[in-house]
Amino acid sequence: MTLIAPGGRIGILGDGQLGRMMAMAAAELGYYVHIYGQEENSPAAQVSHRSTVASYSDKDALKAFAEAVDVVTLEFENIPTTTVEYLSEFVPVRPNNKVLEITQDRLLEKSFVNNLGIGTTSFANVENLDDLVQAVQQVGTPAVLKTRRLGYDGKGQVKISQASQIDDAWSQMKNAPSILEGFVNFKMEISVIVARSPNGETDAFVPVENLHKNHILDITLAPADIPDRITKNALKMATTIAKKIDLVGLLAVEMFVTKDGDLLVNELAPRPHNSGHWTLDACPTSQFHQIIRAVCGLPLGTSKRHSNAVMKNLIGDDVDGWQDLVKDPDNCLHLYGKAEARDGRKMGHVTKLFDLKKKPTA
Ligand code: AMP
Repeated sequence: MTLIAPGGRIGILGDGQLGRMMAMAAAELGYYVHIYGQEENSPAAQVSHRSTVASYSDKDALKAFAEAVDVVTLEFENIPTTTVEYLSEFVPVRPNNKVLEITQDRLLEKSFVNNLGIGTTSFANVENLDDLVQAVQQVGTPAVLKTRRLGYDGKGQVKISQASQIDDAWSQMKNAPSILEGFVNFKMEISVIVARSPNGETDAFVPVENLHKNHILDITLAPADIPDRITKNALKMATTIAKKIDLVGLLAVEMFVTKDGDLLVNELAPRPHNSGHWTLDACPTSQFHQIIRAVCGLPLGTSKRHSNAVMKNLIGDDVDGWQDLVKDPDNCLHLYGKAEARDGRKMGHVTKLFDLKKKPTA
């Protein structure tokens, strides 16, 4: 079934803040949400109609979940593909397993993007120490060694500035299949979030600039301060990738803008993305409304913005400043309902809106 009409039931794999904001958007459009996650009273379950707490390998729980919903989507791409394959026997899963297979593995992802004629930094597959020695010769230094799977927010990454660091870098990977990437001395990091519906309709939000602190997104400036030519290229690249990967849902494409003004794709995420949180307050259709529209086969909403915006993440004990943040009537404050503010944990975010003619600044 392509169209799931309001009143239908949407299953979401994953129970964090992205699932929470998807569930709230789904409720606004008249849907019931059923969360499948690992935690009682999770951020997403708190705002959803139903929730299941079970492992991703629990076939009984997965079958019951699949039979209780009309469509399944996800809030993070590292759901085991065996789980999605099993669910797909009972219910449409959007995005599909092929999208997950590619985006779970940095080597497959970069190869896929390159095969479309879209640039990435140079890279080489690394499965052992000998591979790494060769890869460093091929890619040069500085370079970044990353695990192929399951790395995020800079986890599972080591910079190699000179050949003498090779042994140590490899031992940090603990034999995990890895990829060596040429280090990009970028001018700016940007991202584009594009939606695609089952009938092939696409729409993309404007490219935004992302500033990181300790490898975690700190601030997003919407829009990125880049020339029109780069904006157009970034939108075209993201849309091409979404089409060619046969996406249904949302795809975030992280890119580096090089000093020469070229674009290199760094990473893909087939789900709502932290760099799209500003759309909740600055766009008539947020990224969360857009993914619900896409996976339910509704026409997409506009991705145009009515305001420029700056979004700041509240990480760990940043959230203790909520009393000051909430005093400023111009702050759009979003808190995720997490009880414990651990180091590096995303607890909420705050967005400030600006006139469209005004440049957003950090
Ligand atoms: P990733 O997990 O690939 O998104 O990497 C996290 C962050 O590390 C990126 O947002 C960049 O700031 C930095 N980074 C990752 N890969 C590279 C690279 N090849 N060259 C330079 N910086 C990188």
